[in-house]
Amino acid sequence: MVMDVLIVGAGPTGLTLGIDLARRGVEALVVERAEGLFPGSRGKGLQPRTQEVFDDLGVLEAIRAAGGPYPARMIWKDGKRIGAQPMFDAIEPDEGTPHTDPLMIAQWRTQEVLYTRLAELGGEVSFGREVTGVEQDADGVTVRFADGTTARARYVVAADGGRSAVRRALGVGMTGEPVDPAPFLVADIRLTGLDREHWHTFPGPDGTGVALCPLAGTDDFQLQARLAQGTEPELSLDGVRKLVAAYTHLDAEDVTQLRWASDFRPRTGLADRFRAGRVFLAGDAAHIHSPAGGQGLNTSVQDAYNLGWKLGAVLRGAPDSLLDTYEEERRSNAAAMLDLSTSVHRGEVRRGRATLQLELGYRESSLSVETRVGPAGLRAGDRAPDGTVSGVRLFDAFRGPHWTLLGAETSHAGVRTLPAAPESYGPGVFLVRPDGYVGWAGETTEGLAEYARRAGVFEAP
Ligand SMILES: Cc1cc2nc3c(=O)[nH]c(=O)nc-3n(C[C@H](O)[C@H](O)[C@H](O)COP(=O)(O)OP(=O)(O)OC[C@H]3O[C@@H](n4cnc5c(N)ncnc54)[C@H](O)[C@@H]3O)c2cc1C
Repeated sequence: MVMDVLIVGAGPTGLTLGIDLARRGVEALVVERAEGLFPGSRGKGLQPRTQEVFDDLGVLEAIRAAGGPYPARMIWKDGKRIGAQPMFDAIEPDEGTPHTDPLMIAQWRTQEVLYTRLAELGGEVSFGREVTGVEQDADGVTVRFADGTTARARYVVAADGGRSAVRRALGVGMTGEPVDPAPFLVADIRLTGLDREHWHTFPGPDGTGVALCPLAGTDDFQLQARLAQGTEPELSLDGVRKLVAAYTHLDAEDVTQLRWASDFRPRTGLADRFRAGRVFLAGDAAHIHSPAGGQGLNTSVQDAYNLGWKLGAVLRGAPDSLLDTYEEERRSNAAAMLDLSTSVHRGEVRRGRATLQLELGYRESSLSVETRVGPAGLRAGDRAPDGTVSGVRLFDAFRGPHWTLLGAETSHAGVRTLPAAPESYGPGVFLVRPDGYVGWAGETTEGLAEYARRAGVFEAP
C-alpha cells in the first residue's frame, strides 16, 4: 500500500503537519521513534504568529488553557532581589494584530494539545518506529525502519529533529557554526522557596548563571544554566541540586524533584536543501540554532504550515513546482531566523517586535504576485492581517484549509469570498493563501486565473 505522506517524527513539526494534512483529507501517517511524546519543556515560548497558526488549526483555546503569560525576569544577587524587568518590549495589539504577547507553555503540553487535535481529526501517530533509511524513485519513497519493516509513501517529510536520520540518509549537508562555547543545561524541576510570579535569574561569574522559570499551568520550574567552559553538565537530581545551591540562595534539598534534563551547546545549522525529490526537511531537521529568543519551535511550526497546503494541493493535481516554493520560502526565512537567534543570544537584539514573527513574509517568493503599481502598505507576500468586512472577522473567514478572495467573486471550490478587503488593506483585490499570506494582489482580477492554476487554488476536489 502506498500512503500519500509519511511524516517522520512526532515533535511540534510533525504533529502540526499531521493536523494540517488531516483537515485536508490527505492520508498521512506520523511515525515516531520514541514510545510516547517528548516529556520536556524546552521550547516553551509561543510567538504571536504561531498563536495565529494555532487559531487556524483549532487549538489556540486549548493551548491558552494549558499555558499562561510570560513572567517578568527577577534578577538576584547575594540572596537579594535586585529588580524585575519585563522579558519583552510590550507591543500594543490592534485590529490587524490581535496577539502580540508571547505565550508560555511547556513544549510537552503543546505537543499533548497538538496530538489530541490530530487524533480528533482522525490522524495517527505510530510510536516505537525508528526510521533508518529512505530510498526514492519517480513514483514514491520507500522508508526503512529499525525493525526491518518498510513503508511506501508518495512523499516523506523529515520532521525528525536536529540529528535527522532522514537528512543524513539523503546525504543533505547542514552548514553552521558554534554560537557559544559554553555548555548549557536545561531541566524541569520541582522546588520550594521561590515565588511563581517571576523568572528568577541568578548571574554567576564569567557569564555563567542559572535561571529558574515557573512553567505556567504546571508545578514545575524550567532550569536553564550556562556553565563554565570545560564543565561537564551533570543531568542527575544531585547534579541539579549542586547547581542550584551554588548559584542561588536556596539549599540543595529545596529541589524536590527532577522530571527531565538535557544538555546542549548552542550552534547554528542550516540544511543545504529543504527538498530532495519527494522528501522534505522541516523543523529542526532543517535548521538548528540557539534557543535564545524562542524561535525554534515557532519556525518549525511555520515550516509545517507552509508545506501542508502545498502537499495537499499537489496531491490533488496542482503542478509539482508548487512544492519547490517550500524550500524557496522557508530556507531564506530560516536563514534570517538563525541570524536573529544568534544576535539575541549574544545580547545584540532585544526580544520584541523582531522575535514575534509577525513581520515575516514572502515578498520575494515566486508565489507572491503583486500586479498593482504604486500602493504602499500591504503587498503580495505579506502576512494577511486581521480586520472586519461586512461584520465578518477576517481571521474567522480564514480559519480552515481554503483560500480567501477579498474584493471579488468566484464560485470555485476551495475559495471563500468576501465582497471587499478591509480599509486597512488599501485598495485592490487580494487572494489570501491557506497559510494566511497574501498570494496575489491586483487592482482587478486580471491575471488571477493564471496564478490560481499555478498555485493549485482551484484544483479539482
Ligand atoms: C533549551 C531549549 C529551549 C528552547 N526554547 C525554545 C523556545 O522558547 N521557543 C521555541 O520556539 N523553540 C525553543 N527551542 C527549540 C525547540 O525545542 C525545537 O525547535 C523544536 O522542538 C523542534 O521541533 P521538531 O518537531 O522539528 O523537532 P523535535 O522536537 O526534535 O522532534 C523530533 C521528533 O522526531 C523523533 N525522531 C528522531 N529521529 C527519528 C527517527 N529516526 N525515526 C522516527 N522518529 C524520530 C524524535 O523522537 C522526536 O520526537 C528550545 C530548545 C531548547 C533545547
